[in-house]
Amino acid sequence: MQSHIAIDAFSSRLGTDLDAIRANYRTIARRIAPARCGAVVKANAYGLGVTMVGPALYREGCRTFFVAQLCETGPLAQVIGGDAEIFVLNGIDPGSEALCAERGFVPVLNSATQVERWRTLARSNGRSLPAALQVDSGMSRLGLPSTAAIALANDPAFAREVDLRLVMTHLACADEPARPANAEQLARFRMVHAHFPGVPGSIANSGGIFLPGEFHGELARPGVALFGVDPGPHAEGLQPVVRLDARVLQIRTIEAGAGVGYGFEHIARGQQRLATIAIGYADGWPRCLGGVGAAWHSGTRLPIVGRVSMDSTTVDIGALPEGALREGDFVELIGPSQSLDNVARDAGTIAYEILTQLGARHARIYLENGAAQVRAPGSYP
Ligand SMILES: *Cc1c(COP(=O)(O)O)cnc(C)c1O
Repeated sequence: MQSHIAIDAFSSRLGTDLDAIRANYRTIARRIAPARCGAVVKANAYGLGVTMVGPALYREGCRTFFVAQLCETGPLAQVIGGDAEIFVLNGIDPGSEALCAERGFVPVLNSATQVERWRTLARSNGRSLPAALQVDSGMSRLGLPSTAAIALANDPAFAREVDLRLVMTHLACADEPARPANAEQLARFRMVHAHFPGVPGSIANSGGIFLPGEFHGELARPGVALFGVDPGPHAEGLQPVVRLDARVLQIRTIEAGAGVGYGFEHIARGQQRLATIAIGYADGWPRCLGGVGAAWHSGTRLPIVGRVSMDSTTVDIGALPEGALREGDFVELIGPSQSLDNVARDAGTIAYEILTQLGARHARIYLENGAAQVRAPGSYP
């Protein structure tokens, strides 16, 4: 539901810069041309809201989208043009084949069983069905072994039953350009892809985009790079997309010996000025940031003291001049002072995980063409 409530009516706000997503898409598309650029918008566009992110990418010219599961196709299909193709990376769950075919979504066939179930439906429908085929070139996660894929290439019945739109593989170490595994996976994939003349090949995720051109194939599948996260040491030209702020709920000064938060994990050594802010682990603000992470205000770091609670986090504001931060003000959690990558590093994880956990209680603010659209908390975009 779109809401016209003032931005200030919320405890926390998650800003998504759609112009920056579009700029990142352009940067990537230019880099890999003449290869085509798709977009991976699985997990609700990495938590940012597929119903806003999908159309923005579509307006930028993207016509190939990837989600992970069939349940993610509907919300996306409703908001982009019918000329776009939606691939389902995990393939088809048993029993959902007919629905997938009826709606025109394209499963990525990952296993011999998935291939067989899709072919069975094609035979019973008496028409060929669109699909992509994933080859396991070494990651041991999803995809057919080379020999099984080549056997399909040599099976005339397979060509009749399956309208093959893409042959793809996935790199295990694309964010580490120096790893020999990248060239090894590429060589194995090319050997298999050669058996499918005329079918586009797809290799690169965000990391692969910043590897040499031979990794770009005919269609790239960037995800996290669209959202401003550098997918490796050679990434360049990507703009940050996300901003997260939370409101100060209360400010207090405590005396030496006072405990802070659950378990008194922190005990004040002297007088200490604290602010309790409206974000906790239920909002995707990791509990493990207790005693480690920080919030920021006008360029000043405000270290987290004590444990992160479900709905609040307490920070030390002693570095700010008295009165510089007041109840109701916002502090920065992700933004110009503290990148998504910094938060992830403090939490011992990766930006992907922080993004996809950002909760439903943040007001969602989408910036495009200089205008802001606000979605009230709880209305999953
Ligand atoms: C998630 C995923 C991508 C996108 O990965 P990023 O690292 O976010 O660019 C591409 N391909 C496959 C098969 C994926 O599962």
